[in-house]
Amino acid sequence: MNTYKLIGPFKQVLPMTGLPLNGALKDEQLNVFEGKVGILLQGETIAKTGDFDTLLNETKIIGAEVVELDGDFVALPGFIDSHTHICSSGSRARDYAFRNSGKTYLEMAELGGGIWYTVTQTRNASQKELEAGIAERASRHLSEGVTTIETKSGYGLTVEEELKMLRAIQAVNKKHAADLVATCLAAHMHPKDFEGSKAEYLEEIGSKLFPILKEEKLANRIDIFVESGAFSPQEAKPYLEKAKAMGFSITIHADQFSTGGSQLAVEVGAVSADHLEASTDKDVEILAKSNTIATALPGATLGLGCAYTPARKLLNAGACLAIASDWNPGSAPMGDLLMQAAVLGAVEKLTNAEVLAGITVRAAAALELTDRGTLAEGALADLAIFPCNNYQEILYQQGKLKPAMVYKRGQKI
Ligand SMILES: [Zn+2]
Repeated sequence: MNTYKLIGPFKQVLPMTGLPLNGALKDEQLNVFEGKVGILLQGETIAKTGDFDTLLNETKIIGAEVVELDGDFVALPGFIDSHTHICSSGSRARDYAFRNSGKTYLEMAELGGGIWYTVTQTRNASQKELEAGIAERASRHLSEGVTTIETKSGYGLTVEEELKMLRAIQAVNKKHAADLVATCLAAHMHPKDFEGSKAEYLEEIGSKLFPILKEEKLANRIDIFVESGAFSPQEAKPYLEKAKAMGFSITIHADQFSTGGSQLAVEVGAVSADHLEASTDKDVEILAKSNTIATALPGATLGLGCAYTPARKLLNAGACLAIASDWNPGSAPMGDLLMQAAVLGAVEKLTNAEVLAGITVRAAAALELTDRGTLAEGALADLAIFPCNNYQEILYQQGKLKPAMVYKRGQKI
């Protein structure tokens, strides 16, 4: 259906176009349409943004559905969450309480908590049950303006269980309005019931799971948790090189508690290095000089009560900064991307332009998507429409102001 649809008038439209991919941004660099602005959609994409009355006259010739808004509204591109674990089963509320009462991760694990609890719950869930959980979280994200959601596997930790997770993600993507981008995180940790070394586990995943990912088109992205306790850079490297040779894109859980991951990310040409809470000034510099996108995950900081990603330093050094939720049952249960991005902005002293780019155009780059993240002509008509008269209200209200309307591929949700 290539029918036209005119939406407006908006007080402001921020198309997030014309911004450099890398480095610090000033709010003056934001392209802001103001006054009485209309957005003309053609089918699933943006045809044009401009003066509402002029567009209204044009639509009389071409014929278009007109969605006339009554009140003050500001439109932005739909948000992109480039790092989530919304395919999972079970709550870790007990872990959260334990952690905040001073128990260590080891003590929690001994009490049956920790990531292994989520692995067990996820293995016990059927594919249909996983699909229901993903759909529920995707719907909540979508209602909050997040129109594209990266979704990782990583709680199956056997070839079959990882396949179950990725097939669940694929099934939801086919029927849900939100777009899901699947990532294989079979290398989340060395499963304690695997009989063999870490290298043997990675070898098994690479030789048995990778070809099926290609065959069934389940995922184009490979992720690994590089951390003491998970996989060292030395263990991760051959795995990632194999993935790259097979044509997968790479992303890495890097520098969350210890360093080494971000430097490996640059070395193997990863699209993004995510976390970076422990990154040193040297790591920041190496990342900034590379094409690897730095992804901050303030939801994990809030969940664990630990350090924030040095977002200001990364931007000042010239890095591309995306901001994602890391929504997961263990360390980031909140899953509110806008709130977390706003808080990161307040803590790290980021401009509106830097925060908004981090969840739109720069997040799109972290997923190698060029058809969204802006409201450029031809981009997907994914819109987050806020009930306010000035875009600054959105981050000022720190995520409490939610979209009044969301459009996904031209359709109102
Ligand atoms: Zn994560």
